[in-house]
Amino acid sequence: PTISRHDYQPYPYRLPQVELVFDLDDVQSRVTSKLSFERVGAEGSPLVLNGEDLALESVVLNGRKLDAGDYQLNEETLTVFPTEAAITLEVVSLCKPAQNSTLMGLYVSGNNLFTQCEAEGFRRITWFPDRPDVMSRYRVTLRGDKARYPLLLSNGNLLESQDLPDGRHQAIWEDPHPKPSYLFALVAGDFSCREQAIQTASGRDALLQVYSDRGSEDKTEWALDSLARAVKWDETRFGLELDLDRFMVVAARDFNMGAMENKGLNVFNSSYVLADPDTATDASYHAIEGVIGHEYFHNWTGNRVTCRDWFQLSLKEGLTVFRDQEFSADMMAHGLTQGEAASARAVKRIDDVTALRTAQFPEDAGPMAHPIRPESYQEIGNFYTATVYEKGAEVIRMQHTLLGESGFRAGMDEYFRRHDGSAVTCDDFVNAMESVYIKQNPGKDLKVFRQWYSQAGTPRVKVELDYNAAAKSCRITLSQHCEPVGIEKLREPQSEKPPLLIPFALGLLDEHGNGISLKHEGKQLDTVVLELDTRRQTWEFGNIPSQPIPSLLRNFSAPVIVDYAYSTAQLALLAQHDSDPFARWEAGQELATRQLLKLVAAIQAKAPLDVDPEFIESWRAVLQDQQLTPAYRSRALTLPGEKILLEKTLPMDPAAVAGARRHLRETLGRELAPLWLEALHSADSGTSAPYSPNGLQAGLRSLKNLALAYLAAGNHPQATDLASRQYYEARNMTDRMGGLAALVNQQDASAGAQALQHFYEQWQHNPLVIDRWFTVQATAPSTRVSTVRTLMQHPAFTLRNPNRARSLIFQFCMNNLQGAHTSEGYEFWADQVIALNDMNPEIAARLARAFDNWSRYIPANREAIRQSYERIQQHPTLSRNVAEIVTKALKI
Ligand code: ZN
Repeated sequence: PTISRHDYQPYPYRLPQVELVFDLDDVQSRVTSKLSFERVGAEGSPLVLNGEDLALESVVLNGRKLDAGDYQLNEETLTVFPTEAAITLEVVSLCKPAQNSTLMGLYVSGNNLFTQCEAEGFRRITWFPDRPDVMSRYRVTLRGDKARYPLLLSNGNLLESQDLPDGRHQAIWEDPHPKPSYLFALVAGDFSCREQAIQTASGRDALLQVYSDRGSEDKTEWALDSLARAVKWDETRFGLELDLDRFMVVAARDFNMGAMENKGLNVFNSSYVLADPDTATDASYHAIEGVIGHEYFHNWTGNRVTCRDWFQLSLKEGLTVFRDQEFSADMMAHGLTQGEAASARAVKRIDDVTALRTAQFPEDAGPMAHPIRPESYQEIGNFYTATVYEKGAEVIRMQHTLLGESGFRAGMDEYFRRHDGSAVTCDDFVNAMESVYIKQNPGKDLKVFRQWYSQAGTPRVKVELDYNAAAKSCRITLSQHCEPVGIEKLREPQSEKPPLLIPFALGLLDEHGNGISLKHEGKQLDTVVLELDTRRQTWEFGNIPSQPIPSLLRNFSAPVIVDYAYSTAQLALLAQHDSDPFARWEAGQELATRQLLKLVAAIQAKAPLDVDPEFIESWRAVLQDQQLTPAYRSRALTLPGEKILLEKTLPMDPAAVAGARRHLRETLGRELAPLWLEALHSADSGTSAPYSPNGLQAGLRSLKNLALAYLAAGNHPQATDLASRQYYEARNMTDRMGGLAALVNQQDASAGAQALQHFYEQWQHNPLVIDRWFTVQATAPSTRVSTVRTLMQHPAFTLRNPNRARSLIFQFCMNNLQGAHTSEGYEFWADQVIALNDMNPEIAARLARAFDNWSRYIPANREAIRQSYERIQQHPTLSRNVAEIVTKALKI
């Protein structure tokens, strides 16, 4: 059953008030709900409630107990037929948390009870109009065994708690803010709590709390500090204040995604909460800060203003990702000089764009391609995608670019002025932004821009530059094109997609690498933002003294692919001199890409593998450039990832891409060995201060680990010793993992095996650290299917815990090109999709996407993948989640 965006119908009833009573028990919980409806739709409208995996005990309508003949009950819905306009419906039902391996609805993790309701998990708790446009006030009574569940938490304010007979107790919570069911949460169990009292901007007192398993309270300081910073940041940058007396974050070991923004009671995957220097890497610290920020920012962008229906998911996710990206960038730049701050922001931008190109570009070119506002879906759980989130954030960022910081802020203010407290659409958001844009740009609007919400695929922008030496003028012509993607390819005839409004940031450099000031709309600028909104447009700039070199799509001003015929020399110049740090990095990546694609071709032709000396020199120049911050240098010296490269080869040849990248790493490692050694040592002495995840220290460690990885790749005679020393003497997890990865990936297998053994013994009691232990093995180039199957037999392995499944299975299938892309690898993958399907459909469906771009692979691989997809399709109890992915994959 496909659900289409245009089929939206408002719910015929309002539900202002909800009362829920939970008798909590891990085997079987009883939920009593009292729902007060008011009809707003046509008289006689049936009242349809969603429910899944529930046992019905009783239904009472306006005080009258209904017999089975008075209502309709099927697999997915309970329907009653009220005659009055005001209705009270009381439903009692049972669910089984311990048996719930889907981790949607009410489930057990560790010894505790948690809920996950977004998108459609509330219906696994009780029968309900489980859709985001039905918003209600909740009053929730939680009862349970006091020894087992000493803490009983739900949204909002604690009204009262009291002991009950038989060792039970109860707590009553009331959330003053109306909310949709997907924002409901309860948590019951035993936790330790770290808290901080704060005062909000207007002087209100509030309490921030982070709950986690007992024994982990020493690892929640960073999360709590991050939360306090997020609260401040939203006040300062957006004027948005915390609207609750207390804001709780609870860590769960078993969680399908990153975290969930339930009103006042965020539930988090413990990997985004727990950190100390011994167990968390710099990357984890930054991810925690980002996700804490993300969920907190949802309190306004998501909760106060929510989605009318799930097609609007990007309304809250794209916007909130944009906000968390900006938060992280501001935190990274905090306290730095202007130049350092610009570099720190560029590093964040580079990391975000790299993530977009790694995950979203392939998605936008495959069978699951969809606009950021999808037109249809079979299972909404499959649409928590890189497109909705990351491309969605780029679409918000473009609006920020078009309006400027203060214009964007005015647009946000207008958005809340219009929609606070309601469930709205992406169009409503753009309308608010447009109201400001129109004032700034009389006669223009965002009509063309809105196409970004309806169009799938990554657009290409072709650039032409004409320099007129006599007139000293330069013409820049941009033209846009977006290929049909996914199911669009099956449509006949294929119509050209309408053009988009693409903000295209451009600079010009002279032959020495100096920036040329450009006159645009009455201003002299280093960077101009061209608003391309037709298929092809030309701009002319005067006063250009000599043939310029263009610096294109500065700061990645739009999620597009740029086509311009740079010479290698021009790229080298940009890589050394571009004043835009993002574009400068990009030029280096383009040089590396060209080199790597040459190597791919050579491997395919069985020709000798030559690396251009000029390429090595460009890498040497960056390595020696002490003006650049360590963090920036580490990004500039990292080769484009395998997935990004695969997207640039057709047909895709995973073995050749992996081989090319390996060869180039080896060559750079060997040719620049003395410089890597020097970088390693100087970065090492720079990180002797007490541990901090700040940008400077993290940058030094990142450069150090990169240097170590290159030395290991180049088989340097000292590599094993250096890696061993770093591993065994490490005083933080970033260094330790860098050492371990280098040991596992170098030639001397026994040193790697020994370190792995040591690591396991030391950290076996910390699940998040053991996840790292699985990942380092899953992604080692020497790892084959047999190794993974053996690791699955390890007592620490379980498919039931999503983090553990991801650390081994997903990491191997998605991030080990050499191990996974074999017929054995594809068979293994299908086995695991099938095993997960019956346990946790949402996680299974994610794994099912690992090879969904199979049709673009070289023939041997495509045939093997197709067979595996067909085997999955034949599985008799295929979930709706997996079925949607497989059907779409096989259609293309
Ligand atoms: Zn989110």
